[in-house]
Amino acid sequence: MIIPIRCFSCGKLIAHIYKPYLELLEKGERSEDAFKQLGLERFCCQRMIVGHVDLIDDLLKFSRLQ
Ligand SMILES: [Zn+2]
Repeated sequence: MIIPIRCFSCGKLIAHIYKPYLELLEKGERSEDAFKQLGLERFCCQRMIVGHVDLIDDLLKFSRLQ
């Protein structure tokens, strides 16, 4: 859905890093270097970014289920 605000394991704020991370990847930066630039060094936080699938725009096309 949407990127979680905090890392599930350590609680570090990660939501604000998701878009800059994607922008760095589009510029051709390696994932490892992008994480270094953005100051995300723990694996638990990195897996939150890497494992995220942004589905919110696809799901908003459908009406609510009730
Ligand atoms: Zn973490």
